[in-house]
Amino acid sequence: MSDPTRPRGPRIIAIANQKGGVGKTTTAINLGAALSHAGHTVLIVDIDPQGNASTGLGVEADARETSIYDVLLGEAELADTIRSTEVGDLLIIPATTDLSSADIELISTEKRSFLLHDALRQPAVDRFALDYVLIDCPPSLNLLTVNALVAADSVLVPLQSEFFALEGLSQLMLTVREVRETANPRLRIEGVALTMYDKRNNLSQQVEEDARENLGDLVFQTVIPRNVRLSEAPSFAMPVLDYDPSSRGAQAYQALAAELIARND
Ligand code: ADP
Ligand code: MG
Repeated sequence: MSDPTRPRGPRIIAIANQKGGVGKTTTAINLGAALSHAGHTVLIVDIDPQGNASTGLGVEADARETSIYDVLLGEAELADTIRSTEVGDLLIIPATTDLSSADIELISTEKRSFLLHDALRQPAVDRFALDYVLIDCPPSLNLLTVNALVAADSVLVPLQSEFFALEGLSQLMLTVREVRETANPRLRIEGVALTMYDKRNNLSQQVEEDARENLGDLVFQTVIPRNVRLSEAPSFAMPVLDYDPSSRGAQAYQALAAELIARND
């Protein structure tokens, strides 16, 4: 569905939550793969210095000649850092550990919050005919995450089905509001996806109830179960859809992709 005549650019979605280990990277990789399996061209932008999305899609650390770091520092064009993966129509810009100092290096740069926004809109990107860009954010509300929120049309929040999950959310929502007021008025919430859900666990059910009561339709109907296939797949450098297509994890991310596509139609 990469229609070169389409009037607007890709839908840019930041996958953010300042808590670590809640399923951001797992969602970026597997939602990205599911969207690409559904016929869309998808670019994952890894902006976490840990580079887990890059590793999980088979871009080893010593093979990252250029990365998003070079783009943010103005030393490479974004289009020149886009790499293919083993999954058809799933592309990635890798991250490298030097990203961890980007905050400080960019402190005196004018428009430092707009670096990713501007880079994604460089004309050379058009030739990739991207349908979706998923930005895998670091576990922090730092300049990197702000760059993602300024660049994005929407933010998708993975919420781990655990106690205190909702508490961290208010800080993120505050940051979203600030970005909306200062830099990106069109930023909206794509949705909240419950992750690592265990239906036998009362706590998971409680978190789901609370989330649906407080956030209403913002919470995706699809819930991502805790599924060991999802945690195994990255060590084989594969999305779960390729590693074990019949697993519950694979089916959940396909359902999430279908819901996302339906919401945006
Ligand atoms: P984040 O990017 O928010 O830090 P990750 O996506 O890296 O979180 O997930 C943290 C850990 O939990 C990883 O080891 C990942 O493989 C595992 N994980 C994520 N989602 C699931 C899930 N639904 N079921 C089982 N393990 C998961
Ligand atoms: Mg991550």
